[in-house]
Amino acid sequence: MNAGVLHLLGQQAVDDHGLFIADTFGPTFQGEGPSLGRQALFIRLSHCNLSCGQGPGARWACDTAYTWDFKTYDPQDPKIRRRVLLDELMAWVKARTVRLVVITGGEPLIQRVGLERLVAMLHAEGYEVEIETNGTLIPSEDLVAAVTAFNVSPKLAAAGGREIMRIVPAALAAFVASGKARFKFVVNELDEFKEIADLAERFAMTEIWVMPEGTSADTVRQGLRTIAEEALARGFNLSPRLHVELWEDERGR
Ligand code: SF4
Repeated sequence: MNAGVLHLLGQQAVDDHGLFIADTFGPTFQGEGPSLGRQALFIRLSHCNLSCGQGPGARWACDTAYTWDFKTYDPQDPKIRRRVLLDELMAWVKARTVRLVVITGGEPLIQRVGLERLVAMLHAEGYEVEIETNGTLIPSEDLVAAVTAFNVSPKLAAAGGREIMRIVPAALAAFVASGKARFKFVVNELDEFKEIADLAERFAMTEIWVMPEGTSADTVRQGLRTIAEEALARGFNLSPRLHVELWEDERGR
Protein backbone atom coordinates (compact mmCIF):
# COMPACT_ATOMS: atom_id res chain seq x y z
CA MET A 1 0.00 0.00 0.00
CA ASN A 2 1.30 3.50 -0.79
CA ALA A 3 2.95 5.39 2.02
CA GLY A 4 0.39 7.33 3.96
CA VAL A 5 -2.66 5.39 2.82
CA LEU A 6 -3.29 3.78 6.18
CA HIS A 7 -2.93 7.12 7.91
CA LEU A 8 -5.22 8.83 5.43
CA LEU A 9 -7.83 6.10 5.79
CA GLY A 10 -7.74 6.17 9.57
CA GLN A 11 -10.74 8.46 9.75
CA GLN A 12 -12.80 5.99 7.74
CA ALA A 13 -11.94 3.16 10.10
CA VAL A 14 -13.63 5.11 12.90
CA ASP A 15 -16.63 6.29 10.87
CA ASP A 16 -17.16 4.20 7.79
CA HIS A 17 -20.28 5.97 6.52
CA GLY A 18 -18.48 7.55 3.66
CA LEU A 19 -15.88 7.19 0.97
CA PHE A 20 -12.88 9.21 -0.07
CA ILE A 21 -13.52 10.20 -3.65
CA ALA A 22 -11.74 12.14 -6.39
CA ASP A 23 -14.67 12.65 -8.76
CA THR A 24 -18.29 11.96 -9.53
CA PHE A 25 -19.24 12.46 -13.15
CA GLY A 26 -21.85 11.58 -15.70
CA PRO A 27 -24.01 10.77 -17.41
CA THR A 28 -21.28 9.88 -19.81
CA PHE A 29 -20.40 6.77 -21.81
CA GLN A 30 -18.60 3.74 -20.44
CA GLY A 31 -15.49 4.09 -22.56
CA GLU A 32 -13.94 0.63 -22.23
CA GLY A 33 -14.68 -3.06 -22.09
CA PRO A 34 -17.88 -5.08 -22.37
CA SER A 35 -20.23 -2.17 -21.55
CA LEU A 36 -18.54 0.14 -24.06
CA GLY A 37 -20.82 2.93 -25.22
CA ARG A 38 -23.46 2.46 -22.53
CA GLN A 39 -24.54 5.52 -20.61
CA ALA A 40 -23.17 5.40 -17.09
CA LEU A 41 -22.51 7.40 -13.95
CA PHE A 42 -18.99 7.24 -12.57
CA ILE A 43 -17.80 7.45 -8.99
CA ARG A 44 -14.01 7.63 -8.87
CA LEU A 45 -12.60 6.64 -5.49
CA SER A 46 -9.29 7.85 -4.08
CA HIS A 47 -6.27 5.72 -3.12
CA CYS A 48 -4.50 2.86 -4.84
CA ASN A 49 -2.24 0.08 -3.60
CA LEU A 50 -0.17 0.16 -6.82
CA SER A 51 1.78 2.99 -8.41
CA CYS A 52 1.83 2.09 -12.09
CA GLY A 53 4.43 3.91 -14.10
CA GLN A 54 6.72 4.63 -11.18
CA GLY A 55 8.51 1.31 -10.66
CA PRO A 56 11.47 -0.18 -12.52
CA GLY A 57 10.59 -1.35 -16.02
CA ALA A 58 7.54 0.89 -16.41
CA ARG A 59 6.54 1.59 -20.00
CA TRP A 60 3.41 3.61 -19.32
CA ALA A 61 2.07 5.83 -16.54
CA CYS A 62 -1.18 5.83 -14.58
CA ASP A 63 -3.57 8.40 -16.04
CA THR A 64 -5.37 8.94 -12.72
CA ALA A 65 -2.36 9.50 -10.48
CA TYR A 66 -4.27 12.28 -8.69
CA THR A 67 -6.25 9.53 -6.95
CA TRP A 68 -3.19 8.18 -5.13
CA ASP A 69 0.07 10.07 -5.79
CA PHE A 70 -0.03 12.32 -2.77
CA LYS A 71 3.59 13.35 -3.15
CA THR A 72 2.52 15.17 -6.30
CA TYR A 73 -1.12 15.97 -5.47
CA ASP A 74 -2.40 17.42 -2.19
CA PRO A 75 -4.90 15.03 -0.54
CA GLN A 76 -6.22 17.91 1.57
CA ASP A 77 -7.35 19.71 -1.60
CA PRO A 78 -11.05 18.83 -2.11
CA LYS A 79 -10.51 18.87 -5.88
CA ILE A 80 -8.11 15.97 -5.34
CA ARG A 81 -9.70 14.05 -2.48
CA ARG A 82 -12.81 14.58 -0.41
CA ARG A 83 -14.83 12.47 1.92
CA VAL A 84 -18.47 12.06 0.87
CA LEU A 85 -21.23 10.39 2.88
CA LEU A 86 -22.89 7.40 1.22
CA ASP A 87 -26.27 9.12 1.45
CA GLU A 88 -24.84 12.05 -0.51
CA LEU A 89 -23.51 9.69 -3.18
CA MET A 90 -26.89 7.96 -3.41
CA ALA A 91 -28.64 11.34 -3.74
CA TRP A 92 -26.24 12.30 -6.56
CA VAL A 93 -26.97 9.02 -8.38
CA LYS A 94 -30.73 9.23 -7.88
CA ALA A 95 -30.86 12.78 -9.22
CA ARG A 96 -29.90 11.31 -12.61
CA THR A 97 -31.84 8.90 -14.81
CA VAL A 98 -29.00 6.54 -15.80
CA ARG A 99 -29.21 3.07 -14.23
CA LEU A 100 -25.59 1.91 -14.63
CA VAL A 101 -23.10 3.07 -11.99
CA VAL A 102 -19.38 2.44 -12.50
CA ILE A 103 -17.20 2.63 -9.40
CA THR A 104 -13.60 3.17 -10.38
CA GLY A 105 -10.39 4.57 -8.96
CA GLY A 106 -7.69 4.40 -7.86
CA GLU A 107 -8.39 1.00 -6.43
CA PRO A 108 -11.96 0.86 -5.08
CA LEU A 109 -11.50 -2.27 -2.97
CA ILE A 110 -9.11 -0.46 -0.61
CA GLN A 111 -12.11 1.30 0.98
CA ARG A 112 -13.75 -2.03 1.64
CA VAL A 113 -16.42 -1.12 4.20
CA GLY A 114 -17.72 1.99 2.48
CA LEU A 115 -17.60 0.32 -0.92
CA GLU A 116 -19.59 -2.70 0.23
CA ARG A 117 -22.24 -0.47 1.78
CA LEU A 118 -22.54 1.75 -1.28
CA VAL A 119 -22.82 -1.21 -3.66
CA ALA A 120 -25.44 -2.81 -1.39
CA MET A 121 -27.45 0.44 -1.37
CA LEU A 122 -27.27 0.75 -5.16
CA HIS A 123 -28.18 -2.91 -5.64
CA ALA A 124 -31.18 -2.52 -3.32
CA GLU A 125 -32.41 0.37 -5.49
CA GLY A 126 -32.10 -1.75 -8.64
CA TYR A 127 -28.99 -0.17 -10.16
CA GLU A 128 -26.44 -2.09 -12.18
CA VAL A 129 -23.03 -1.62 -10.60
CA GLU A 130 -19.66 -2.28 -12.21
CA ILE A 131 -16.47 -2.08 -10.16
CA GLU A 132 -13.18 -1.43 -11.93
CA THR A 133 -10.30 -2.99 -10.02
CA ASN A 134 -6.66 -3.94 -10.45
CA GLY A 135 -7.49 -7.41 -9.14
CA THR A 136 -5.07 -7.48 -6.19
CA LEU A 137 -7.59 -7.42 -3.32
CA ILE A 138 -10.02 -10.25 -2.60
CA PRO A 139 -13.69 -9.20 -2.87
CA SER A 140 -15.98 -10.21 0.00
CA GLU A 141 -18.97 -12.50 -0.50
CA ASP A 142 -21.30 -9.56 0.15
CA LEU A 143 -19.63 -7.49 -2.54
CA VAL A 144 -19.75 -10.36 -5.03
CA ALA A 145 -23.44 -10.85 -4.32
CA ALA A 146 -24.39 -7.20 -4.83
CA VAL A 147 -22.19 -6.18 -7.76
CA THR A 148 -23.24 -6.67 -11.37
CA ALA A 149 -19.73 -7.13 -12.74
CA PHE A 150 -16.08 -6.64 -11.90
CA ASN A 151 -13.92 -5.14 -14.65
CA VAL A 152 -10.60 -6.60 -13.51
CA SER A 153 -7.48 -5.07 -14.98
CA PRO A 154 -4.38 -6.95 -13.79
CA LYS A 155 -1.19 -5.01 -14.38
CA LEU A 156 1.48 -6.50 -16.61
CA ALA A 157 5.24 -5.99 -16.29
CA ALA A 158 5.01 -2.84 -18.44
CA ALA A 159 3.21 -1.13 -15.54
CA GLY A 160 6.49 -1.35 -13.62
CA GLY A 161 7.05 -2.56 -10.09
CA ARG A 162 7.32 -6.02 -8.63
CA GLU A 163 5.15 -8.88 -9.82
CA ILE A 164 4.36 -9.91 -6.25
CA MET A 165 2.52 -6.58 -5.87
CA ARG A 166 0.76 -6.61 -9.26
CA ILE A 167 -0.30 -10.24 -9.48
CA VAL A 168 -1.96 -11.68 -6.37
CA PRO A 169 -2.98 -15.26 -7.15
CA ALA A 170 -5.59 -15.59 -4.37
CA ALA A 171 -7.30 -12.40 -5.48
CA LEU A 172 -7.35 -13.31 -9.18
CA ALA A 173 -8.67 -16.77 -8.32
CA ALA A 174 -11.43 -15.18 -6.22
CA PHE A 175 -12.47 -12.90 -9.08
CA VAL A 176 -12.59 -15.85 -11.50
CA ALA A 177 -14.61 -17.86 -8.96
CA SER A 178 -17.07 -14.97 -8.53
CA GLY A 179 -18.38 -15.62 -12.05
CA LYS A 180 -18.76 -11.86 -12.43
CA ALA A 181 -15.29 -10.88 -13.64
CA ARG A 182 -14.30 -9.64 -17.08
CA PHE A 183 -10.54 -9.23 -17.48
CA LYS A 184 -9.18 -6.20 -19.27
CA PHE A 185 -5.49 -5.77 -20.07
CA VAL A 186 -3.68 -2.65 -21.22
CA VAL A 187 -1.34 -3.65 -24.06
CA ASN A 188 1.18 -1.58 -25.96
CA GLU A 189 3.60 -4.10 -27.38
CA LEU A 190 2.92 -7.44 -29.02
CA ASP A 191 5.31 -9.20 -26.64
CA GLU A 192 2.80 -8.56 -23.83
CA PHE A 193 0.28 -10.99 -25.33
CA LYS A 194 2.23 -13.98 -24.06
CA GLU A 195 2.09 -12.57 -20.53
CA ILE A 196 -1.70 -12.27 -20.85
CA ALA A 197 -2.08 -15.75 -22.31
CA ASP A 198 -0.01 -17.21 -19.46
CA LEU A 199 -2.20 -15.46 -16.85
CA ALA A 200 -5.37 -16.53 -18.65
CA GLU A 201 -4.28 -20.15 -18.63
CA ARG A 202 -2.99 -20.10 -15.06
CA PHE A 203 -6.20 -18.64 -13.62
CA ALA A 204 -8.69 -20.04 -16.15
CA MET A 205 -9.81 -16.57 -17.20
CA THR A 206 -12.40 -16.72 -19.95
CA GLU A 207 -13.70 -13.23 -20.75
CA ILE A 208 -10.62 -11.31 -21.84
CA TRP A 209 -10.40 -7.83 -23.35
CA VAL A 210 -7.27 -6.07 -24.53
CA MET A 211 -7.00 -2.35 -24.92
CA PRO A 212 -4.22 0.04 -25.98
CA GLU A 213 -2.76 2.57 -23.56
CA GLY A 214 -2.98 6.24 -24.42
CA THR A 215 -4.43 9.60 -23.47
CA SER A 216 -4.80 10.97 -26.99
CA ALA A 217 -7.13 9.74 -29.74
CA ASP A 218 -4.24 9.34 -32.18
CA THR A 219 -2.20 7.21 -29.78
CA VAL A 220 -5.15 4.97 -28.98
CA ARG A 221 -6.08 4.54 -32.65
CA GLN A 222 -2.52 3.60 -33.51
CA GLY A 223 -2.44 1.21 -30.58
CA LEU A 224 -5.64 -0.48 -31.74
CA ARG A 225 -4.10 -1.07 -35.16
CA THR A 226 -0.96 -2.50 -33.55
CA ILE A 227 -2.73 -5.05 -31.37
CA ALA A 228 -5.86 -5.95 -33.40
CA GLU A 229 -4.49 -8.88 -35.42
CA GLU A 230 -2.79 -10.49 -32.43
CA ALA A 231 -5.96 -10.09 -30.35
CA LEU A 232 -7.95 -11.86 -33.06
CA ALA A 233 -5.39 -14.64 -33.32
CA ARG A 234 -5.40 -15.19 -29.54
CA GLY A 235 -9.20 -15.16 -29.22
CA PHE A 236 -9.25 -11.97 -27.12
CA ASN A 237 -11.81 -9.18 -27.38
CA LEU A 238 -10.62 -5.71 -28.36
CA SER A 239 -11.65 -2.50 -26.63
CA PRO A 240 -11.11 1.06 -27.81
CA ARG A 241 -11.07 3.91 -25.29
CA LEU A 242 -14.16 5.83 -26.28
CA HIS A 243 -13.74 8.60 -23.71
CA VAL A 244 -10.24 9.31 -25.06
CA GLU A 245 -11.57 9.29 -28.62
CA LEU A 246 -14.20 11.86 -27.61
CA TRP A 247 -12.53 13.98 -24.96
CA GLU A 248 -8.83 12.99 -24.90
CA ASP A 249 -7.55 13.16 -21.29
CA GLU A 250 -10.10 15.67 -19.95
CA ARG A 251 -10.76 14.83 -16.32
CA GLY A 252 -14.31 13.89 -15.35
CA ARG A 253 -15.45 12.63 -18.77
S1 SF4 B 1 -3.84 0.20 -10.53
FE1 SF4 B 1 -4.91 1.68 -11.82
S2 SF4 B 1 -5.23 3.50 -10.50
FE2 SF4 B 1 -3.70 2.20 -9.50
S3 SF4 B 1 -1.73 3.06 -10.17
FE3 SF4 B 1 -2.26 1.36 -11.58
S4 SF4 B 1 -3.35 2.32 -13.31
FE4 SF4 B 1 -3.31 3.81 -11.60
